[in-house]
Amino acid sequence: MKIYLKGKCNNDCIFCDIDKKRDTLFSQVEKKIEKASERGDKRVVFTGAEPTFREDILDLIGLAKKKKIDIIQLNTNGRLLADKKFTEKIIKAGANYFKISLHAILQNCTIIFPEGETVLIKQLEGLRI
Ligand code: SF4
Repeated sequence: MKIYLKGKCNNDCIFCDIDKKRDTLFSQVEKKIEKASERGDKRVVFTGAEPTFREDILDLIGLAKKKKIDIIQLNTNGRLLADKKFTEKIIKAGANYFKISLHAILQNCTIIFPEGETVLIKQLEGLRI
């Protein structure tokens, strides 16, 4: 099951069509995980906006793990994965599959990365970890 978390992102891609005005509530995500578990889904995918940018992401991952979901996937831009301690926490919580989107190959692609070149470097660091 794919779960759209919506809410904020630390990128600002010009083509993004995710609703960033408000997060999907914790209780709504909880219901979706329960539904996935009840019907025997093997995989839960946390996606857009940016799962790692959400304060309760460790709890959400933990919930999926508690419900015995085999594959707990994050679709992420990978920026915050450059923080090794944070990545270790996410993995310890139960995330075991990462789909990392690199939306630009130019370091100065300000259309996607308003902060400029450091963003792509962070993403690549995240990939390395
Ligand atoms: S990284 Fe993904 S969620 Fe974030 S702005 Fe870009 S397309 Fe949207």
